[in-house]
Amino acid sequence: MRTTLASWCCFGGFWASGVLDQSSQVPPLGVKQITLRVFWDLGRLWYSHLNPDVPMKWILAFFAIWNVAGALLRTFRMLLERLPLTRRLYPNRDMLPIDEVSDLEISAAAKARYRAAARELSRRAGIRAPELLCSPKNGMVAGTRGWRRHELHLSRGILNHASHEGLLAIVAHELGHIHYSHFATLRIAEIFGSLVYARVVFALWDTSFPWYGYLGLWSLLDFSFSLFRLAAGSVTELMADHYAAHKLGMAEELSHGLTRAQCFNGATEFTQITHFYPTVKLRVRLLSRYSRAVAVAEQGAGR
Ligand SMILES: [Zn+2]
Repeated sequence: MRTTLASWCCFGGFWASGVLDQSSQVPPLGVKQITLRVFWDLGRLWYSHLNPDVPMKWILAFFAIWNVAGALLRTFRMLLERLPLTRRLYPNRDMLPIDEVSDLEISAAAKARYRAAARELSRRAGIRAPELLCSPKNGMVAGTRGWRRHELHLSRGILNHASHEGLLAIVAHELGHIHYSHFATLRIAEIFGSLVYARVVFALWDTSFPWYGYLGLWSLLDFSFSLFRLAAGSVTELMADHYAAHKLGMAEELSHGLTRAQCFNGATEFTQITHFYPTVKLRVRLLSRYSRAVAVAEQGAGR
């Protein structure tokens, strides 16, 4: 009875965190995910404790394959979303090219502002203007996708509520992601991370540790893999911020825009810590420091 319960706890937690992990583009660290994660970890501890004979190596191998499969799915997601058979597996996020959005949803003036900002900044940055898309989300969220031909995604919240400078700064940041091909980099980094995970599991195959040895190694592997993905995501955000600040001179505007988006989206200190890496607080601090340094340098040059 206890064993059955323990295994349900273990695999229930596993499926829930796995499904969330697969469905989100960002590192899986929301409050819900963390709670599930804790249950999942307690569950597997309990399960392994009650079943010391369970071949832990097989569970490790299963996860190695799961991670590689997840990384590959995310890598080919854009293609799979287009195929008729696999399209229905993905949630319809109602992402529309800006030309197809009705004027009732986003005013003609806001659309024109979006087009002008993207055109002007990609010209200044010397990159091909991305395809402009819009989601009906009311929060202020932005992103890019694409391997060679890039898509810029802005939410209705940004288009309707961002100030002129704020919109330019957000587009500048997203162009930074496009300039450095972060979409491709992050997917390749994840494949790399999952292959390293699989390689370690393969190396452990001929060992014979007690069950808690494998449990410890498993936790260590899981933790390192999550941390690696998180670190890769953080580095790309800081690089895009630096691009907007350094290449397009929008440090101050971006720091104001980020703060405004945070307030608008109702993010608290706690969601800051669980949802954003690096935290917006850190990004705003770095951007303000950068813009102050530029101002001082300009003053010095003017004197
Ligand atoms: Zn970004």
